[in-house]
Amino acid sequence: MVFEGLASKLQDTLDKLKSKGRLTEKDVDTAMREVKMALLEADVNFRVVKDFIKKVKERAIGQDVMGSLTPAQQVIKIVNEELTELMGKEESKINFASSPPTVIMMCGLQGAGKTTTSGKLGGLFKKKGKRPLLVACDVYRPAAIKQLEVVGEKLDIPVFSMGDKVDPVNIAKAGVEHGKKNGNDLIIIDTAGRLHIDDELMDELGNIKSEVQPQEILLVVDSMTGQDAVSVAETFDEKLDVNGVVLTKLDGDARGGAALSIKAVTGKPIKFIGMGEKLDQLEVFYPERMSSRILGMGDVLSLIEKAQETFDADKAKELEQKIKSQEFDFEDFLGQLQQMKNMGPLTDLLGMIPGMNSKQMKNLNVDEREFVKIEAIIQSMTRKERQNPDLIDGSRRKRIAKGSGSNIQDVNKLLKQFKETKKMMKKFGDLEKTMKKKGKLG
Ligand code: GDP
Repeated sequence: MVFEGLASKLQDTLDKLKSKGRLTEKDVDTAMREVKMALLEADVNFRVVKDFIKKVKERAIGQDVMGSLTPAQQVIKIVNEELTELMGKEESKINFASSPPTVIMMCGLQGAGKTTTSGKLGGLFKKKGKRPLLVACDVYRPAAIKQLEVVGEKLDIPVFSMGDKVDPVNIAKAGVEHGKKNGNDLIIIDTAGRLHIDDELMDELGNIKSEVQPQEILLVVDSMTGQDAVSVAETFDEKLDVNGVVLTKLDGDARGGAALSIKAVTGKPIKFIGMGEKLDQLEVFYPERMSSRILGMGDVLSLIEKAQETFDADKAKELEQKIKSQEFDFEDFLGQLQQMKNMGPLTDLLGMIPGMNSKQMKNLNVDEREFVKIEAIIQSMTRKERQNPDLIDGSRRKRIAKGSGSNIQDVNKLLKQFKETKKMMKKFGDLEKTMKKKGKLG
């Protein structure tokens, strides 16, 4: 999980505060020392940590006593607000041109995820009704052009390329012309990176910038490189004056130091975060939601958005009807499992539930393999069996176990669980009916 280490340490510290009625200055001091350690261990920039602690302490000690909150709750509120502030307060939007096309220039070091992110960004805006064009200017990294073409094909977004023998500045210019002629209102330029920052790279990017005058320069940095990502951001920003940062591979970064330092060090906001290799795993960055997640306060808004994107409203209604009328079968169950999977890794989803702190998640020990197993078992059933599980006798159970690579106990367990779930649904259904009769429900 993102910010796993930091989240559990901060939550521990703040839990300790909660157990105290009144807070002395010493309590706050001790807590802040722990918060400081936790931030440093998460690889947050030293200066940023120092400032952060100073601000929280000043506010916590001099705080106005608010009637509705306990002292500990007030400290948590302050930490939450300052964490949010650290990451940039509100979401930062893209600057769109008043008369299209809008040109976005992507830059960053090799391997940061520039090509992937160019595609993801195109996909994101295509969903919102834009007509993007991807322009392949990475003439140095082997196969980068081909990679962009493959990404474009997957997303059904056109890609403009001129091979790797042409000067990237000329490709960018021709790409923008091509987009204008073809009615593309969003042009995303995938520039070339290098393994390290050097003058040649910066000159080339500077030339592309002055040639195409992009509305937006987005710097792509790899979250896993921690403070290196922050210094890369500083250098790029000095030379190019970027508009914002895309922080990739946050899905694999348990520490999160870059996410917490970039805005404070460079003054430039993180606009998007990469949460996986798949092309739909790019998210708008909301500092407030991220801060709530770190503090175990949940992120209900993101959860709802994910559910809305994934779940089909008509299907949900149909399902509710089936549950009520007892027709819920293994076919429906399989559909539900698959929709859950589309929402992303289960641990990420659980992390968005308020009150679900990182310790509880560890205790829950969510095993995604269990889901895979259940899915395999259901898939080994015939359609008839799924619709009517009572058909599944001893020999069918054996066949299903074999077909799904599990054993007969697993199959028995699933059938039993399913029966019990159905019974429970019936109870709820009956209860609802009685309540309705008595006029207690609308
Ligand atoms: P470029 O050299 O900057 O264009 O980098 P690429 O776009 O080729 O990405 C380098 C590697 O990082 C590829 O294997 C990508 O799949 C992977 N990658 C990019 N973004 C993410 C992300 O958000 N999460 C994860 N886990 N991998 C990513």
